[in-house]
Amino acid sequence: MRIDLHTHSTVSDGTEPPAQVMRAAARAGLDVVALTDHDTTAGWDDAAAAAVKYGVAFVPGTEVSCTHGGISVHMLSYLQDPTAQGLLSEMDAARDSREYRARRMVERIAEDYELDWEDVAAQADEGTTLGRPHIADALVARGHVDSRDAAFATILHGRSRYYVRHYAPDAIEAVRLIREAGGVPVFAHPLASARGRVVGEDVVEEMVDAGLAGLEADHRDNPPEARQRLRQIAKAHGLFVTGASDYHGSGKQNRLGEFTTSPQVLEQIEELGVGKVVRP
Ligand code: AMP
Ligand code: FE
Ligand code: FE
Ligand code: ZN
Repeated sequence: MRIDLHTHSTVSDGTEPPAQVMRAAARAGLDVVALTDHDTTAGWDDAAAAAVKYGVAFVPGTEVSCTHGGISVHMLSYLQDPTAQGLLSEMDAARDSREYRARRMVERIAEDYELDWEDVAAQADEGTTLGRPHIADALVARGHVDSRDAAFATILHGRSRYYVRHYAPDAIEAVRLIREAGGVPVFAHPLASARGRVVGEDVVEEMVDAGLAGLEADHRDNPPEARQRLRQIAKAHGLFVTGASDYHGSGKQNRLGEFTTSPQVLEQIEELGVGKVVRP
C-alpha cells in the first residue's frame, strides 16, 4: 500500500485541478492520496469523484495556516466536518487576510518591478486560497524571475523588503478547533528550518495537550537527522508519524509518493476522524 497524505491543487497553490491531482496519483502508483489545500476544503468534491474514476482512495484534508509566537506553523487536518463553524471561520479569516496581504505585497513589489494586481489575479481561479506562489507565477509571467523557486529565493523570501504577513490562528487553538470539527490534527513538516524559524518541543507538548495526533516526520523539508528526532518526539508523546510529498504539481520539485505513510497510521486516522475515506 502506497499512501501519500499531503498534496495541493489549484484550489490553493498547486498547479493542477483536484481531479488532475487524483489522476496523477493513480499514475504514480499510489493507492491512497489526501488533498490538503491551504485553508480550504473546496477541492474535496471534485477530488472524490475523480478518485473513484481513477481507482485511488481519497482522504479529505486541509493544511491550516497557523502562527505561534510569531513563527509560521502549518497544521494538517484530516477527515474533519467541513461545515464545523469554529475551524471554518478561522480559515475564512486567513483566506481573506491572504488576499489583502497579496495586494499589499504587489504594491510594494510594484515600486521596483513592473507588476500589478491583474497579473496575480490571472494566475489564480476565483475562490483560490492566494499565496506567494501566485505572485511568483505572475513574476515569472512578467519575466522578472525564471521559476517559483527563484522568486522565493529573492523577491518573495520571508526576509525580503516586499514581504507582508497575513493573519493566521494560533497553532494551539487550531489543534483544538480541528478536534472540535472531528478532524485529525497532524503537525506538517515540523522541522522545516530552511523555510524559517520552527517551534520547539515545548510547543509540540502544548499541541499534544490540545489534541495533536501526529507529526509529519517524513517530508523533504525536514532534514534527515530531524526525521529521526521527530520519531523520538512522537514516541515520547504517543503520537503517530506520517510521510508525504507535499506535491504542488509543477510548482515545486516534490514528486507524488516520494514519502509515504503506513497503512496502520491511516487506520488510526480513520478511527479518530469523523469523516470517511472515499474508496473506489
Ligand atoms: P504563503 O503561505 O503565501 O506565505 O506561501 C508559502 C507557500 O509557498 C508554501 O505553502 C509553499 O507551498 C510555497 N513555497 C514555499 N517555498 C517555495 C518554493 N521555493 N517554490 C515553490 N513554492 C514554495
Ligand atoms: Fe503550498
Ligand atoms: Fe506546508
Ligand atoms: Zn503543503
